[in-house]
Amino acid sequence: MAKVSIGLRGWRFDEDEIFSGDEELKPLDEIPEEPRERLLRLVALVEEPCDVCYLDYGEEEVHRCNQAEIVYGEPKGEVLLCPEHEPDFIYWFREADGSEHAGDLEFGDRFHEWVAAGNEAPEGYGSVEHVEEDPDGLPDLPDQQDIQERVEQGFEGERIDIRELAGETDDEDELNEDELADSDVDLSTDYPSNR
Ligand SMILES: [Zn+2]
Repeated sequence: MAKVSIGLRGWRFDEDEIFSGDEELKPLDEIPEEPRERLLRLVALVEEPCDVCYLDYGEEEVHRCNQAEIVYGEPKGEVLLCPEHEPDFIYWFREADGSEHAGDLEFGDRFHEWVAAGNEAPEGYGSVEHVEEDPDGLPDLPDQQDIQERVEQGFEGERIDIRELAGETDDEDELNEDELADSDVDLSTDYPSNR
């Protein structure tokens, strides 16, 4: 199953999960929850600045920041990077215990703290090697405007949900874990057969 990136490099989607047979983006309600969450999050992220640039320049000089081209981490705990600052992230992840936070929502915060403390990759630290994707093997990806329109079409009348999914509200409903019912049955017991 081919993997594709949309909008920003980094997050990868299974082609079959998000595109229909005619290489169109599927209706959002047909996309599994996890890739849908990332897809919607991407809509909120694509025009954001690189996190490291932003930490350097701040809101007052946000025009000096490079627009992010790369995203790592979990939705709402992600790291946004420009190619210039990607080596700092790779160094943190590989050499400064950043990988210990993989999968956590605090992933982004931990990296930002590391950067804010004045850390960076040593001079000349290599960037990650990117495998060139075979352009003939990929569908035509919808551009960001297209995704935005589809998101809005797909959730017409439910725009509040979009904002929530895209992380633009602080109102996060906790999902209730199914509680395992207490049971006195010992499943390891070998019951005699009735034969
Ligand atoms: Zn940057």
